[in-house]
Amino acid sequence: MTAIAPSPSIIPPRPADPSLARAGAVLTINLDAITQNWRALAARVAPAVCAAVVKADAYGLGAREVARALSAAGCRTFFVAHLDEGIALRHILPSPTRIAVLHGPMPGTEADFTAHHLLPVLNSLEQVAGFAAHAHHLGRKLPAVVQSDTGMSRFGLTLSELTSLVAADALEGLDVVLHMSHLACADTPDHPANGAQRQAFLAARRLLPGVPASLSASSAIFLGGDFHFDLVRPGAALYGIAPQAGAPNPLRPVVRLEGRVVQLRQAAAGTPVGYGHTATTPTAARLATVGMGYADGFLRSLSNTGAAWHRGTRLPLIGRVSMDSIILDISALPDGTLSPGDAVDLIGPDQDLDALARAAGTIGYELLTSLGARYARRYLGG
Ligand SMILES: *Cc1c(COP(=O)(O)O)cnc(C)c1O
Repeated sequence: MTAIAPSPSIIPPRPADPSLARAGAVLTINLDAITQNWRALAARVAPAVCAAVVKADAYGLGAREVARALSAAGCRTFFVAHLDEGIALRHILPSPTRIAVLHGPMPGTEADFTAHHLLPVLNSLEQVAGFAAHAHHLGRKLPAVVQSDTGMSRFGLTLSELTSLVAADALEGLDVVLHMSHLACADTPDHPANGAQRQAFLAARRLLPGVPASLSASSAIFLGGDFHFDLVRPGAALYGIAPQAGAPNPLRPVVRLEGRVVQLRQAAAGTPVGYGHTATTPTAARLATVGMGYADGFLRSLSNTGAAWHRGTRLPLIGRVSMDSIILDISALPDGTLSPGDAVDLIGPDQDLDALARAAGTIGYELLTSLGARYARRYLGG
């Protein structure tokens, strides 16, 4: 898993980095793969601009490291979900890099947006009124993003709300720099909601003529140029998640997750394994206990269904996922292949993030954002 330092024969080899030698599992994050994915998306949507969504600590991969790498690659617009995420990101990305906060201002937080040069996404009449009042109080126009709800019923102004705002000149004190909306079904290319939401967005845009527009997150980028408008907002695709379920993934994998063997044992046929004795060895088996569990975000739903891999060989999980450990049936490997301290792949060349998520009964987004900070982390590139 890492370079092995030369050592006298009686001292077992150890990974060169002591924190990796101590770790039960190692999460490797390839920042160069993230920037390559961003460049590939940017080239696909040009002349539209490619932003980057780094909410939820860049989907669990480290907003600081990811944002620095993307900024160095040329990304100039970033989205986060919460005000505090925006404030933290502003310390890493100085103005004029744009940072937009998707949830907009909670009542009373408007001044924090101006203090930290953050763009609020105004989603409701209350948020528009609050931010316009703040602009009036400061006596200057304030930049803001306006979101329309075109059919997801989550964030954004309805068409009639936007119509009444425009009729009342209620956006007058604001400099609307972007008009956005979000698709509910973009991962299903032939879903009729995609075209319907696009039409609804075109109708909303007529109320804000000349304002740059944004509709697409990762999946919608692959619906074609009609969906790109002036700016796209990928998150998942940057991190290697497949944008369309069932289609080949055009993006580079970004994460590798390795668990390390703590203990090996020989078990006779019929030996019960793990909490609740939910599994029993069908035949004589060799088992390996690996030092990662649900407290590391390795979902318990992988009990008895997930697998690790070792250089092309599948090693099924047997028994329940524990808080800090899992048990693998490694009988498919020749005896002596694995020793304590050796690594097996949970996410890697034989099993990508989406495949592991499917085994867990979830999607890559949930698995990625749940992979905890408890893993030893190693960043490549950047
Ligand atoms: C999370 C989010 C995105 C990014 O979505 P991905 O599917 O991860 O690309 C874009 N826009 C909005 C409004 C979001 O909430």
